[in-house]
Amino acid sequence: MVPPTPLSPARLERFARHIVLPEIGGAGQATLAGKHVALIGLGGIGSPALQYLAAAGIGTLTLVDDDVVDISNLQRQTIFAARDIGHGKAVSARRWLANFDDAITVEISDQRIAASNVAGMIDGADLVLDGTDNFATRLAVSDACVAAQIPLVSAAVGRFQGQVGAFAGHMPEHSCYRCFVGDAFDAEDCDTCAEDGMLGAMAGWTASFGAMHAIRVLLDGVSAFGDPQWGMVHLMDGLKPAMRSFKIAKDSACRGCGVSIA
Ligand SMILES: [Zn+2]
Repeated sequence: MVPPTPLSPARLERFARHIVLPEIGGAGQATLAGKHVALIGLGGIGSPALQYLAAAGIGTLTLVDDDVVDISNLQRQTIFAARDIGHGKAVSARRWLANFDDAITVEISDQRIAASNVAGMIDGADLVLDGTDNFATRLAVSDACVAAQIPLVSAAVGRFQGQVGAFAGHMPEHSCYRCFVGDAFDAEDCDTCAEDGMLGAMAGWTASFGAMHAIRVLLDGVSAFGDPQWGMVHLMDGLKPAMRSFKIAKDSACRGCGVSIA
């Protein structure tokens, strides 16, 4: 592994509260600065996740969303303000990021994600964080991550339920998101949050847990920020409130990562 580039004095000061944590440290912070995360979906999950990933000093971000900011998004999509209504989410997110930290390299896409174009969107990323809101897209993202050997943090939320998991289906011993969900949803394309409602803070809880998981994956083997817990799904219940976790076993017949496709 190439040693990370040392941080400038201004960057050391900016990330001082990270660097004093032994679980991150100077080496961990410099590592984050050299990482590239592709954030798919800039809605209820992607918006707060972007804030924490950018604040954590991830050096390069790819931001993907084909949607336009609507007034009803502002209740939970924390990077957008009234002036963004009617503008593209990807363009608005880039504007937010430029104001927040212009040292971060950013690429954006406002293309609708499909199995045919997702590989190009995640190309070169060290990690993909998927916060999209329908199964067909999520499965396409998962399959592309397995094919490109990129770890995936998947985060989803609806009403008062959140779900976060880290997947490394390209590794022979670990499951992928498709092992979890199965094949039944490839054709489904519904915007569940538009129909079901969602507590804004619930999206924030789920998104920040997803961002934390992403940082954990990026620092795996660099500092002692814990096990990525590949294939473990964490379910968050905002009403109890409570959290429970369970492991998804690798499905040897999985169309995304099974041995039969190897
Ligand atoms: Zn699989």
